[in-house]
Amino acid sequence: MNMAENNMTEEKNIKVCPVCGLEYSEKAEFCKKCETVLIDKPKSEAKVPTDYKRLFLMVLYTFLFIGFIMALYYILGWMMAR
Ligand SMILES: [Zn+2]
Repeated sequence: MNMAENNMTEEKNIKVCPVCGLEYSEKAEFCKKCETVLIDKPKSEAKVPTDYKRLFLMVLYTFLFIGFIMALYYILGWMMAR
């Protein structure tokens, strides 16, 4: 299972069936021998929550950055007043 996945990442144009180990072109959708689906459907579905998480982190970091700038201005203003 893991060896088949490594082969897929090493050679971009070749797909390897995880069940029987037969090699196919990148466009192949099904294994001709055991009819295993060769399209990585779970990976595309897994991308959605990661993008949502990344967006949430971006918003969080933006708010943290704004808070940091405001705190900096507040401290600078306090120092200038003295
Ligand atoms: Zn197969």
